Amino acid sequence: MAETAKKLMNHNEKKKISLYSVGINLLLSLIKIIGGVVSGSAALIADGVHSLSDLAASLSVYVGIVISNKKSDLFPQGLYKVENLVALISAFAIFFAGYEIGKDVLFEESEPIKNLTVAIVVIGLTVLITYLYSRWEKQKAIELNSPSLLADAEHIKTDFYTALVVLVGVLGQYFGYPIVEKIAVVIVIYFIFHSGFEILKEAIKVLLDASLDHESIEKIKEILNNEPVIKNINAITGRNAGSYKFVQLDLALNTDSLKEAHELAHKIEKDIKEQMPFVEKVVIHYQ
Ligand SMILES: [Zn+2]
Repeated sequence: MAETAKKLMNHNEKKKISLYSVGINLLLSLIKIIGGVVSGSAALIADGVHSLSDLAASLSVYVGIVISNKKSDLFPQGLYKVENLVALISAFAIFFAGYEIGKDVLFEESEPIKNLTVAIVVIGLTVLITYLYSRWEKQKAIELNSPSLLADAEHIKTDFYTALVVLVGVLGQYFGYPIVEKIAVVIVIYFIFHSGFEILKEAIKVLLDASLDHESIEKIKEILNNEPVIKNINAITGRNAGSYKFVQLDLALNTDSLKEAHELAHKIEKDIKEQMPFVEKVVIHYQ
């Protein structure tokens, strides 16, 4: 009972933090795009579109977490893959946005900075928000043992550095070196495509029912090797759906006692779920 309550609490906490990330990315997109238009900075607008791509990614994580505990008669396996479908669509939107920005900024005459103060204030805010939020989220991710929140925190930390690149670009353009701004935009476009590609890769992998990643399998082996009752690990298989992993184990045991085997199965499932967040289900066959 205590365990179920804790799981629910962690689930709600993750849901809350992933919603904060959505809010942060929405805020960053808005101030960068508005600030970019008002100040006349192409680099800032490009970074605003980059934040829109981050918004799409954080939204799909949030949708995934919300949907993950909903099941219906029509979809008894749950709707985990809706998250990946949303991600797939957003990846293409991101590539398109990156292409549009690249085309505009690289092949057209660059515009002078109209309002340096606005650009500096927006970049200053971005630096402050990304620095503080990534630090806070990283700490929370460690507390909740959540790899997806940790990845999000690391990403927002790179957004902090991107903001510094944009600052250099804006100053370059302002002081009469438009090439500096074009270079800054190229770097930002790289981040846009990178984030789109990451989303696309994950989505396709999961939609095609790719098996568990190597890292997860090694981690499960490590957990199983701590159990002397296990004589042999015949197979570790599983699949991904949404942010979640479904694990199947085939084990040979050193015991004939059904009770002992049953207790072991419970313990293994508990250990795996505790040490590997986002494992939704562990099915164990033993002989
Ligand atoms: Zn980003």
